[in-house]
Amino acid sequence: MRMSNLYLPTLKETPAEAEVPSHQLMLRAGLMRTLTAGVYTYLPLGWRVIRKVEEIVRQAMDESGAQELLMPVIHTAELWKESGRWEQFGPQMIKFQDRKGRDYCLGPTHEEVVTALVRGEIRSYKDLPLNLYQIQTKVRDEIRPRFGVMRGREFIMKDAYSFDRDYEGLDKSYRAMYDAYMKAFSGCGLEVRAVEADTGAMGGSESHEFMVLAEVGEDRIAFCDSCSYAANVEKAVAGEMGSTGSEEMKELEEVHTPGQKTIEEVTEFLGVEPARTIKSLALLADGEPVLVLIAGDDQLNEVKLANYLGANELTAVDDEDFDKYYHSTAGFIGPVGMEGVRILADLRVRDIVNGVTGANKTDYHLINVNPERDFTVEDYLDLRIVKDGDPCPKCGGRLEIKSGIEVGHIFKLGTRYSESMGATYLDENGKEQLIVMGSYGIGISRLVAAAIEQNHDEKGIIWPKVIAPYQVIILALGEDEEVVKVSEELYRELAARGVETLLDDRKERPGVKFNDADLIGIPLRITIGARSLKNNLIEARVRRTGEEMQIGLEESVERIIEILDRIE
Ligand code: ATP
Ligand code: MG
Repeated sequence: MRMSNLYLPTLKETPAEAEVPSHQLMLRAGLMRTLTAGVYTYLPLGWRVIRKVEEIVRQAMDESGAQELLMPVIHTAELWKESGRWEQFGPQMIKFQDRKGRDYCLGPTHEEVVTALVRGEIRSYKDLPLNLYQIQTKVRDEIRPRFGVMRGREFIMKDAYSFDRDYEGLDKSYRAMYDAYMKAFSGCGLEVRAVEADTGAMGGSESHEFMVLAEVGEDRIAFCDSCSYAANVEKAVAGEMGSTGSEEMKELEEVHTPGQKTIEEVTEFLGVEPARTIKSLALLADGEPVLVLIAGDDQLNEVKLANYLGANELTAVDDEDFDKYYHSTAGFIGPVGMEGVRILADLRVRDIVNGVTGANKTDYHLINVNPERDFTVEDYLDLRIVKDGDPCPKCGGRLEIKSGIEVGHIFKLGTRYSESMGATYLDENGKEQLIVMGSYGIGISRLVAAAIEQNHDEKGIIWPKVIAPYQVIILALGEDEEVVKVSEELYRELAARGVETLLDDRKERPGVKFNDADLIGIPLRITIGARSLKNNLIEARVRRTGEEMQIGLEESVERIIEILDRIE
C-alpha cells in the first residue's frame, strides 16, 4: 500500500479523552476514531489488525473442530424471557421496540439464540457433540465505557457454544476450547495467563479467564508465588489465616466514641488493631436488607456475596431505608442486638476475640465483642477480597495481586440454558436428556488494545509481527530520482514475494516519516536515502529492538525476508 493513498490520519498530540496508552495510541496511530463514548469506527490500518486477529482465532477454532456461523444482532424478548435473563441481565442490555410494539434487544451474548437454534434441530445423541461459533458485534450498555475498545459499548467478540451429551463430554469440549484459546493468544504474539474465574450471571460450574497482565487492567488476579494457583480476585480465596489471639473472653462493654465513625478513627481512638474490629455493612440485595460483617482490615467481595444470596444487584442503603430496616445509626451500626435483618459474616469474623463493633447508638461502640456469645449470624462464609501476602489456599505460599485485562472467558454452563429453554436429545435408549452446554468468548477488539498495552514504547506501537497491519515499511527519503526508483522497485518485489509492505511515498520531511513509522509500529523499517544509495546500500531497522543494519541493494529482498523471519 502506498501511504500517499492510505487513509491514515495520525495525530501528533495525545487526545485528551484517552487515559491509557492503548487508547491514546489507537487514536494517534490512526487505527480508529470515536463516534461517541464506547463506540468506534475502525480505520483501514486498525481494521487490518482486527482482521488478522480474527483470522488467527478462526484458525484455532476451526482446528478444534468448531464450526463458524453468524447469528443475528437483533434478539426477541421472548427468548430472553424463557431463560430468565430479560430482567436478570440488567441495564447493560439495550432494549427496543419495533413499530408494532414488540420487544427486542441488541445481543450482548448469544446463549439464548444459539440454544433456540439447536433445540429445534438436535434430535439424537448422534448429533452430539457440536461446537458452533461466530465472530460478531456485541452490544452492551456498559456503565463505564472507557479505555477505548478495551471496554466498548459495541465490540467484536468471538463466541462459541458447545453441546454435549453429558458432563464428561463437556469436560472434553471445555479442555479443547482452553487449548484452542491458549493457541490463539500465543498465535497473536500475546502473553496470556489462564486464571480461575467466577461464573457470574452466566451460571454454570467451572470457568477460566484469560488475562493479559498489564498495569491498566481492570481485573485483579491473585497468583501464588510457589504453585500454579491463579484466580480472579472476584473468586480467589485465601488459605487458613488463624485466630487474632487465644486470650480469655472479656465482659462486653459500651464505650463512648464521640464522632469516631470510620474503622481508622475507631482503631486509633481505642488503640486496637483493625483486624480486631468488626465492620458492619448495611446493604440491599435486590431490595432486601442484609447486614454483612467483615474484619476491619478486609474489603467485602461483592461477587461472593451476590453469588451466595443469588442476588443480581447489591446497593448501599440510603438514609430512608437505613432507618426503616436497621434501627441503628450510621457509623455506629453493629450486629449486637440487631433484629429483623439477615446477618452474614466472613469466616475471619468468627475468629475475632474481644473485638470492637458499633453499638447501634450515636457516638458509642462496643468492646470485648465475641461472635457466637454476643450475636449470632445466619452463616459464616468466605466474603473477603484476598490481599497481597495472604496464604495460598492450595499450598500455603504467598498470594500476589496483579492487574490484568480479560481477553477471553470460558464457562461450563451445564444445563442452565437447555433446562430453561428445553433443549434436549434422545439417548441410545430413546430417553430424553438435557443437552450439556459450554460457552466461550474472546474479545477480539479488546485483544487488540491489550496487545498494544503489552507492546509499545514512548514513540508508539510495537506490533507483534503476526498481527501487524503491514510487516515492512519502506521510507523513501527526499525526491531524488534514484531513491524513488529503487523504493518503487523494492516495494513491488516485496509485494510479489507476499510481504505486506507499506511504501511511504508521501511528500513529507524525513522526520515526519520516521515518527509515523515508529508510531504505527511496523515491525521492520527500510530507509532509502540518496547518500547511502550511492554506495548501493539501504538501511533496515527492527522496530522492537532498535537493531540497525546496512543491506546491499542487490540482495535486499532476500535479506529483508530473512530478517523478517527471525523477528517476533
Ligand atoms: P468484563 O468482566 O470485562 O466486563 P465480561 O466478563 O462481562 O467482561 P464476557 O461476557 O465473558 O465478558 O465476554 C467475553 C469476552 O468479551 C471478554 O473476555 C472480553 O474479552 C470481551 N468483552 C466483554 N465486554 C467487553 C466490552 N465492553 N468491550 C470490549 N470487549 C469486551
Ligand atoms: Mg468475563
